[in-house]
Amino acid sequence: MAIATINPATGETLQEFEAHSAEEIDRRIGLAAAAVEALRRTTFAERAGWMRVAADLLDADAEELARTMTTEMGKTLAASKAEVAKCAKGMRFYADNAEAFLADEPLDDPAKVNASRAYVAYQPLGVVLAVMPWNFPLWQVIRFAAPALMAGNTGLLKHASNVPQTALYLDTLFTRAGFPEGAFATLLIGSREVERVLTDQRVAAATLTGSEGAGAAVAAIAGRELKKTVLELGGSDPYVVMPSADLAKAAKVAVTARVQNNGQSCIAAKRFIVHTDCYDEFAALFVDAMSALRMGDPMADDTQLGPIATEGGREDVEELVADAVAHGAKVLCGGERPDQPGWWYPATVVSEITQDARMYYEEVFGPVASLFRVPSIDEAIAVANATSFGLGSNAWTEDADEKERFERELAAGAVFVNGMVTSYPELPFGGIKRSGYGRELAKVGIREFCNAKTVWVA
Ligand code: NDP
Repeated sequence: MAIATINPATGETLQEFEAHSAEEIDRRIGLAAAAVEALRRTTFAERAGWMRVAADLLDADAEELARTMTTEMGKTLAASKAEVAKCAKGMRFYADNAEAFLADEPLDDPAKVNASRAYVAYQPLGVVLAVMPWNFPLWQVIRFAAPALMAGNTGLLKHASNVPQTALYLDTLFTRAGFPEGAFATLLIGSREVERVLTDQRVAAATLTGSEGAGAAVAAIAGRELKKTVLELGGSDPYVVMPSADLAKAAKVAVTARVQNNGQSCIAAKRFIVHTDCYDEFAALFVDAMSALRMGDPMADDTQLGPIATEGGREDVEELVADAVAHGAKVLCGGERPDQPGWWYPATVVSEITQDARMYYEEVFGPVASLFRVPSIDEAIAVANATSFGLGSNAWTEDADEKERFERELAAGAVFVNGMVTSYPELPFGGIKRSGYGRELAKVGIREFCNAKTVWVA
């Protein structure tokens, strides 16, 4: 895949970029390794100061940066601006909390282990390679970089090939803010060069957000090299609606949960599993609201749905819908691409999806909702869990017993009751099953790339 900015709203190639040479890759790895040593001599307070300056830079650059993101991957300008703001907030969160999250943990009673003193110290692992996707081109990176840098790790970013300008912005952000040269840098490389970087002895670990295929490829290399990985992969989140729910609210939030980021979010609700007693009412509200969405120029203020980020991404969505229809599914709205340049696809709702359709099991990375009718909570939970993914899950009910069951029985990295799955710096984020492993954010996230060192003193 060429490293290039291609505007998905028009299909026009705006700028192509030369990949870094082997020498340049080597030089950047060397700087990242040297920066680990430089960071080792810094305090949390110093790093927090630079992190806050970096957050201020994001705020100052927000308008231009948001335009770059929208141009490169098609999310609405409002969504891009919100993403920049979320990143600045996340950076300040780790500036404020990293020291407490990584404070030494003394054993209350060291005599029990025959020591005068025993504690766990959290120390950085070193250079971490971050392989990142285009869908939240800033947030996916910052979600890794802010805790990693605060912990004293350094980062090398291999960003998706279709967001090079965002990647180049990130290349200089942290050094502009005061971090030592090499603390965080971009490698302009294709996915084939990832192996070269990850097998380099100076690189300690890797994190990847993206598809199952990319995750498996990177984890295989890391496995061979015995290097730690965190993987955040796809999802096909269920969104269960029970009769006691506030249906108007559940339907309204369902639209946002499905079409956020033009339908291209790992934690977007994708399968809407509705109890038969409220199915017709929910379906009518949901289909009406999906049909009413304004699709158009992502730079315009009143646009609610922009294009799919890539031509291949739209083809994937079209194939999944066509396959479902061939197996008996019904398209309740959308389902036809408009005749215009760019990678457009409308908000679509599909029902009566049979178990032999690919859409029943696969992730749909676009604004297409699957509707399922279920007769009971048991069946709702069974359908919700009938997926190889396990990232997020949503359930809507006012019934206390049902809430308890969803909280305990939905098989996913997160369950949100009467609200949509969202990531917060304060809460861990990650999945089970084929959605990956490890956690980002919160205290558990910053510790993923730390050596939890046991210290025992006689
Ligand atoms: P990919 O997983 O292909 O891309 C994500 C990142 O991984 C990019 O930086 C990409 O680089 C890199 N990459 C891809 N293949 C390899 C490999 N074999 N070795 C090392 N690095 C690799 O995502 P796509 O954009 O192709 O999207 C395909 C599907 O992935 C989507 O339909 C969706 O299901 C899922 N996805 C999930 C995301 C999430 O948030 N969990 C985000 C994006 C996609 P390059 O761009 O150079 O290929």
